[in-house]
Amino acid sequence: MKLIKTIKNFLFPVHCLGCNKKGDYLCPDCLNKITLISHNFCPKCLKISSNGRLCPNCKNSSFPVEKIIISLYYSNPLVAELIKKYKFFPFAYELAKPLGLLLSKAIKETNALSYLQKENFKIIPVPLTKKDKAKRGFNQTYELAKIVSQELNLPISENTIFKIKTTKPQVGLNAQQRKNNLKNAFQVKKNLNQENFLIIDDIITTGSTVYQVAKTLKNKGANQIWAAILAKG
Ligand SMILES: [Zn+2]
Ligand SMILES: [Zn+2]
Repeated sequence: MKLIKTIKNFLFPVHCLGCNKKGDYLCPDCLNKITLISHNFCPKCLKISSNGRLCPNCKNSSFPVEKIIISLYYSNPLVAELIKKYKFFPFAYELAKPLGLLLSKAIKETNALSYLQKENFKIIPVPLTKKDKAKRGFNQTYELAKIVSQELNLPISENTIFKIKTTKPQVGLNAQQRKNNLKNAFQVKKNLNQENFLIIDDIITTGSTVYQVAKTLKNKGANQIWAAILAKG
């Protein structure tokens, strides 16, 4: 793998999106300089909340996600550039590593890791339809989840949830349209027997994807659901 990377870098030199240095899409110096969001959000309304749980306004409504951790703001130009390069053609697949490390760091900084491990949380990357995965060649959230799984020593829950409906891109849709678009888009084929899950996604805007995934898991018997998101749009 290393040799292939060396040859590839020689033929098509890659530059750091932060400082333009040759070698990686994100050099270790620029990776270290990216600051994580230091406050927490309410998983339902996504407004700032003191502990990443439902805020006083949302507290009395039922919501399937108990706690959310968001690592970065998409409005940071370097973050936006990195995610675009990672998600869109021609894919800089290698960016899964530094982006996954940033997400892992955000989860560690909440001091919740020992709790997640003790309560046997399993990671659920937001799935793509078979067709969309084939088109891209990989599921970008699954690749992030692999890094988080290694870093945090939490297993990925494989083959638990599937995306069974092709949906329109969420961009350009309002909150209600986003909800309708994702209705019945996911399916869980087994009973989840009070298991706990940590959903992983790349970008959150209104929260409708995480909500739909969480609701589908809950309907099949999941117990606690948390979410960890790379960036807030
Ligand atoms: Zn750099
Ligand atoms: Zn709220």
